[in-house]
Amino acid sequence: MSIEVDRGLKCHYCGREVILPFKCPFCGQYFCEDHRLPENHNCPELWRVRTRSPPPVEREHVSVARRVVKESPIIYSFKTRRERWTSITEIYHLIIGAAAVMAVGLSLRGQGFNWMKFIIRSPIVAFSSALLFTIIFISHELAHKASAKHFGLWAEFRLNIIGVSLTILSIFSPLKIVAPGTMVVAGVADKKVIGKIAFAGPLTNIVLAFLFYLASFHPLCSSREIALGALLSIWIALLNLIPIGMFDGAKIFWWNKMVWAASFCISLILLVLFLFL
Ligand SMILES: [Zn+2]
Ligand SMILES: [Zn+2]
Ligand SMILES: [Zn+2]
Repeated sequence: MSIEVDRGLKCHYCGREVILPFKCPFCGQYFCEDHRLPENHNCPELWRVRTRSPPPVEREHVSVARRVVKESPIIYSFKTRRERWTSITEIYHLIIGAAAVMAVGLSLRGQGFNWMKFIIRSPIVAFSSALLFTIIFISHELAHKASAKHFGLWAEFRLNIIGVSLTILSIFSPLKIVAPGTMVVAGVADKKVIGKIAFAGPLTNIVLAFLFYLASFHPLCSSREIALGALLSIWIALLNLIPIGMFDGAKIFWWNKMVWAASFCISLILLVLFLFL
């Protein structure tokens, strides 16, 4: 834990001005004395920290409680407060995230800057499919949240700079990466719970994709738009199943390799199916 002197810095968690802020070695943000520990500022990298070195006390308990808890539990010494389902901060982060995803949705209608011409020519088609894309993204994040809440954990969406940058770059590049942020989870959780929360996101996209695909055969649906929705949903599922870094796939792979492999294969098959049929 390094201390850096920087007058007038604000704690990233509570906003209090601190003369001697502490830099978190995991997420790189600055905090006051009360929030300097990863568990006290809902550090997004906390799950990794705990995986690398489980505290010695928990190791002792594993042998006794092996039949109950197979893996050593991950304890976040999180201060419980009166909690609401969401917060102003989360809504603010979600709106910015959704706006970035919406922009990527609009950019699907043409290479380079051609999509801007498409919006002018047929704004309703352009905005409705971009909205569908945004709904797919929000369902993914809310599935994580609902799942975390189900396990009694604190969960809020937060943008992250790498994700936002990749998403904004996607507006202009042919490869579309939509991951402006992550659902930050805190509370007492084991490997299985973390894996299940991560799995809720891509699973929602697989189910949505399948439903859109079925709906595209219905005579009342504009099949092209709905089929595009199916394609986008499965793309988001597949992208998030990448088993590295900040993606959900990393946590799912870590929890259960079979679940990861099955969902990855299903997504890949559906993607190929939607692209070529
Ligand atoms: Zn603070
Ligand atoms: Zn941190
Ligand atoms: Zn996710």
